[in-house]
Amino acid sequence: MTKVTEGVYFIQGQDEFIPDSHVYVVGEPASEDLSLVDAGLMGKGDYKIQSILGMDISLEHIRRIIMTHTHLDHIGCLREIRERIPWAELWVHQIEAEYLERGDDRTVYGMEMFKSMCQQQYDLKPGSFSFQVDKKLQGGEKLTLGGMDWEILHIPGHSAGSIALYHPPKKILIPGDVVYADYSIGRFDLHGADASTLKDSLTRLADLEVDILLPGHNRIVKNLPPGYIMDTVNQWGPYLA
Ligand SMILES: [Zn+2]
Ligand SMILES: [Zn+2]
Repeated sequence: MTKVTEGVYFIQGQDEFIPDSHVYVVGEPASEDLSLVDAGLMGKGDYKIQSILGMDISLEHIRRIIMTHTHLDHIGCLREIRERIPWAELWVHQIEAEYLERGDDRTVYGMEMFKSMCQQQYDLKPGSFSFQVDKKLQGGEKLTLGGMDWEILHIPGHSAGSIALYHPPKKILIPGDVVYADYSIGRFDLHGADASTLKDSLTRLADLEVDILLPGHNRIVKNLPPGYIMDTVNQWGPYLA
């Protein structure tokens, strides 16, 4: 785990034949009010917890887990992590929260073929991704988390309930799988995804001033060039129309 800036720590995903999402730890340590953003792939819970302990962060100070969205590579080890921090609340956008609460795993797996493959590979039982959600996010919330101001944005298109976290003072964006470094964007062929909705979400993100881009996978970027997200939208425009 590495420190990105004051109050934001980065745990790099350990990809297998399926990617493992990065985890971000958000909040000033002195606040004793820390949030995890995302969990990761099945079997990666212990690695994520050990990474947090390695930074001398007390697990008791982790108050919540905020999911950017509930694809398997982000939620796969949520249960493992919650076993270590059972007091932590689970925050998910309302649309995907309702899927989790009724045990509907179509968003988690994204497509039927992938579901049967993963259930075999990881010995996953039906109902593995049924969760109660403590806070259902709508988008538009302005929250103080760990002594820092964060805004929640609903940015559907990669999945129906994708959210971003944005910290205006330091221009930090945590967009889940909606936009990555190197002009990449999230796929838009899975359950609940939609190309033109993704384009609208990217266009809204392009209005933000972003210096630090902390995506769900691949590189993080600390000095994002101005206009980067709009340039990305323009490159992908023909595929998102
Ligand atoms: Zn995803
Ligand atoms: Zn992902």
